[in-house]
Amino acid sequence: MSKLVKCMRCGEREGEIELRYARLVLCKECFTEYFIDRIRKTVEEYKMFSPDERIGISYMADKKSVGLISGLIEAFPETEFHIIYIDLGTTFYTIEARIPLDELVQKYGVKLHVYSLPNEKGYNIEDFRGTKYWRKICSTCGILKRYYTSYVAYQLGLDAVATPHTLDDVVEVMFTLFLDGKFEDLINMKPVQHPEFPNQVRRIKPLVKTYEWEVDEYVDIKGLPYPETECPLKKGARSTLRKKLLKDFEESEPAFMRKLYTVFMKKLVRLIEERYEPPKLVECKICGGPSLSGICGKCVREVYLRDRKKLDIKIG
Ligand code: SF4
Ligand code: ZN
Repeated sequence: MSKLVKCMRCGEREGEIELRYARLVLCKECFTEYFIDRIRKTVEEYKMFSPDERIGISYMADKKSVGLISGLIEAFPETEFHIIYIDLGTTFYTIEARIPLDELVQKYGVKLHVYSLPNEKGYNIEDFRGTKYWRKICSTCGILKRYYTSYVAYQLGLDAVATPHTLDDVVEVMFTLFLDGKFEDLINMKPVQHPEFPNQVRRIKPLVKTYEWEVDEYVDIKGLPYPETECPLKKGARSTLRKKLLKDFEESEPAFMRKLYTVFMKKLVRLIEERYEPPKLVECKICGGPSLSGICGKCVREVYLRDRKKLDIKIG
């Protein structure tokens, strides 16, 4: 991109950020406004929340979460936000990812609620090492974070919880579910998920129309603190490889991910919803949460870990 291009919004400053999917070149200031505006419009389009509701924001120990926290607070200055952090008990979670979070909390004066797995339950994510769950630890991690985030949000009486899923994340998961033939699960990728059970809150994805690179750019321009390292368990995750593949497609065909998202969401998900009866969920006998078979995925794992590793885990 030529250095001499003017910003296509203000027409004054130098255009430094090229949004090929939208055929736009913006200066840094206009890009940050564009980013915040997109979050505001996404929340409004999908009726994610109304400004007078109390909203939780899930901090997933990454740069995307930082972008989400800042973007939501800037887009809805009147709304009461609460950051929820599930500390899985490793050095990365307890120290590396926590330091920038504390800085962010101070900067925005927002409330922080930390749920520490070792303190509250008596184990950490690394305790799964050497068990059958270790090979797909990201799946277990996702189940635990989702469960406890929802738990904290419900205890606080919040109306919804925002998660930092970007367009890249959602398209990658949809693509994977599609390849695996798990069409019914595509419904779970909707931008707003209403509670399946009375002890849950609404889950929303305000970054669903935003590319991951845009979040990175926004965080860098604003100079916000974020974890310098990634979760060490991430290496080689299949989702990382698939995301790279989708990025390569996007590189040669701008707006590829947006098109894929629209086709999945507006065509495929609608068709599935018309023809598919969602499974009947029953109360987990241990914790009272939603489950398919009588014991939820979180409790299955905790019971297994307690028995296998002889740990003093508080279950329930
Ligand atoms: Fe959890 Fe996997 Fe993400 Fe690490 S990389 S935070 S284990 S989902
Ligand atoms: Zn349970």
